[in-house]
Parts: sequence; structure tokens; C-alpha cells
Amino acid sequence: MNKPDRVRQALKRVLDSTTPLYIAPRFDPSLAAWLWRFSANCTERKLTANMNVLGPLGHATLQLFAQLIAEEEIACDYQASGYYEVCRTEQGTTHARRDVALMRAHGFDAEVLTGEEIGARMTSLKSDVMGGAYFPDSATCDPYRFVIEMAERVRRAGGRAEAGQVVTKVEGGAHPAVRLATGERFEADAVVLATGAYSLQLARELGCRLPIQPGKGYHRDLEFGEGSRPPLEAACVLGETSVFCTPMSGRLRLAGTMEFSGLNHRIRPSRLAQLTASAEQYLSGIGPSRVTSEWCGLRPCTPDGLPVVGRLPGQTKVFAATGHAMTGLTLGPVTGSLMADLVTGATPSPEVTALAPARF
Ligand SMILES: Cc1cc2nc3c(=O)[nH]c(=O)nc-3n(C[C@H](O)[C@H](O)[C@H](O)COP(=O)(O)OP(=O)(O)OC[C@H]3O[C@@H](n4cnc5c(N)ncnc54)[C@H](O)[C@@H]3O)c2cc1C
Repeated sequence: MNKPDRVRQALKRVLDSTTPLYIAPRFDPSLAAWLWRFSANCTERKLTANMNVLGPLGHATLQLFAQLIAEEEIACDYQASGYYEVCRTEQGTTHARRDVALMRAHGFDAEVLTGEEIGARMTSLKSDVMGGAYFPDSATCDPYRFVIEMAERVRRAGGRAEAGQVVTKVEGGAHPAVRLATGERFEADAVVLATGAYSLQLARELGCRLPIQPGKGYHRDLEFGEGSRPPLEAACVLGETSVFCTPMSGRLRLAGTMEFSGLNHRIRPSRLAQLTASAEQYLSGIGPSRVTSEWCGLRPCTPDGLPVVGRLPGQTKVFAATGHAMTGLTLGPVTGSLMADLVTGATPSPEVTALAPARF
């Protein structure tokens, strides 16, 4: 998340609600402090340091994802066919070339493409696309179906997954427990705070400050008529607007934007409209579509661009697994694996040191 060139550029226009990064104007000292720390972390040096941690986690999670999908037979439209970065400007193609260099430096396959090369592979792109990149190692899936299927596997294996329960308090110490809004109390061998952007309050009550800000993002699904396939051959990110376009069975998902407007799920229709407007700039055939789903979610964002995975300071049996910002789905399997090692006392991979909650 802390790519220096893109962030510097975006920070110049943050109060403009039509740009990918938007900060709703309001008095919020914790957001101001977070932004200050975040911008200080948007340097080449920090980006390299983060990639030294995230690179190995990325390789591990790709393997774990493929293994999980195959062994558990998870039906979530998993496509391990990579994605394209598509650019319409010189500046965009320069960023794409940098992205390729960065990914290659960390052992991922990546390819710079000219406008003609991308156009030949994706005929749905408009002719003014100047160039971009291809990242063949990446995969896409339907996240909702992935989560539903995973919960089902947990139940099948004897676990209990309950939707709609609200945890009001986490108790630490030698016998950790969670209290629910219903008044019920569950003791456990270990508690993992995996409450996303909502983790602050629960952690604070245990004496741990997690500087996490909710970064709101939106998705809009488009359908193109009964039995019609979406007009896009492969997943791609639109370089200048950072909108992800993913063909999913029978529909096209447009997802993106980063909005800092507090801990709420209020939908700004103008942000959703931006997704379609962006797609129309790059792709042909978007016009005759029907909106089938609109949604916003809160990405848990840390100021240093790294997730928070590890034991809470001063606690032996309470852990946090949050702060994944834009990569929580991608890093889900490797985070689960790290947590399993931490909770059972096995030696986790060395990257976990950089993710410790105690670093703040
Ligand atoms: C538009 C959009 C597109 C995205 N695209 C991608 C992508 O392509 N790839 C990717 O890797 N990531 C993507 N992300 C980011 C990803 O969704 C997040 O990183 C991820 O959801 C974070 O996971 P989490 O489990 O930490 O938090 P969440 O997904 O927010 O889950 C936390 C859960 O805890 C629950 N909870 C909170 N407080 C309590 C409480 N007190 N009691 C009980 N339950 C509680 C919440 O209801 C929620 O269900 C995207 C995000 C958005 C918004």
C-alpha cells in the first residue's frame, strides 16, 4: 500500500471525492496522526523492507491457497491465471514498469507489455490503452463463496462458526475468554482478534494500541444479460484509477477506491458511479449492463503498510491477526498458518517478527 510515487501523487488530491484515494474532511486527530505516520512510511526504503517481508508471505500464500482449494474442493471460481495492469497514460505505464521490476526483484513472474501486446490478448480493451503489465502468478476467486465454503469446512471438521454474534469484551491472562452481547462468556486456550478495522477497541481494553484506520472500498457487480459472459477476457487493474475488474461466473466485478471516512458502512453513490465510469474509459461493452450488487467494506490499514500478526504485548494467550489492508484475502491462508504456529508454540516463519503488534 505504501508505494511512494503513487501515494505522493494521490495525497495531492485527497479531498477530491472523484479520485481513487479520498479523505472525508472532518476533525479526527487519530486519522491525522495515522496519515502523518503513513506518509512517513511511503519511501523506497520502507517499500523494499516491506516487500522483504510480504514477498515470502506472498509465495507461501499462493501455495497454501492452491492446496486449500484442491484438498478441500472449495468451489469459489478460483482462477490461477494471473492479472493484467492496463494503462492509458505515460505516467501509468511508468508505474507499471516499476511494479514489474518490484515483483521480479521479489521472485514473482511479471512482464511489461506494450499497448499492442495487451490489446492482442484482451480484445475488450479500448484502443487507446498505451501499455501495462502481466502478473501470471496471481489468482482470483469469488471471496464471498470462499468464506462461506471455508466456514462450512470448519463446521464439517467439528468446529463452530456463528454469524451475527457480537463480542463485547476480550479477557486476557492465563485463562482468556470472550464475552458476547448476549451475556454468554466463552473461555478458550487462546483468543485471536481477527475483527478487522474493529479491532482497536477490543485491543485497547487489553492495553494494546493498534493504529488501524478503516479504509473503505466499494464493489459493484455488472451483469450483461441472461447467459451472457462479461466483456472481459481476464482480470485486470486499471492503472490510473486502481479499479480491479474481475470476470466472475456470469458477471463482472468492479472493485476499488480507498476512502478514509470513519468506522461506518455508509455508501457514497458517487464512489460507486466512479467504478463504472473508470471501467467505461478502458473497456468496450460496459454500457448495456445491469447492476446486481453494490457493497462497501472496511480494509484494516496500518500506517507502516504491514499486517499485525502475533501475540498482544503483555498477553500470553491473546493474539491479533488484522491490519492486512488491501491483501487480507490474499494473505488469509498464510496468516492462518502463522497463527497456527504461534498458538501451538511451533516456530513460525521469520517474517512474523516484523508483523508483531508490539512494534507500535
Ligand atoms: C472493495 C474491496 C476489495 C478488496 N479486494 C481485495 C483483493 O482483491 N484481495 C485481497 O487480498 N483483499 C482485498 N480486499 C481487502 C480484504 O477484504 C481485507 O483485507 C480483509 O477483509 C481483512 O480481513 P479481516 O478478517 O482482517 O477483516 P474483515 O474482513 O473486516 O473481518 C472482520 C470480521 O470481524 C467481525 N467483527 C468485528 N468486530 C466484531 C465484534 N466485536 N464481535 C464479533 N465480530 C466482529 C466483522 O463483522 C467482520 O466480519 C478488498 C477490500 C475491499 C473493501
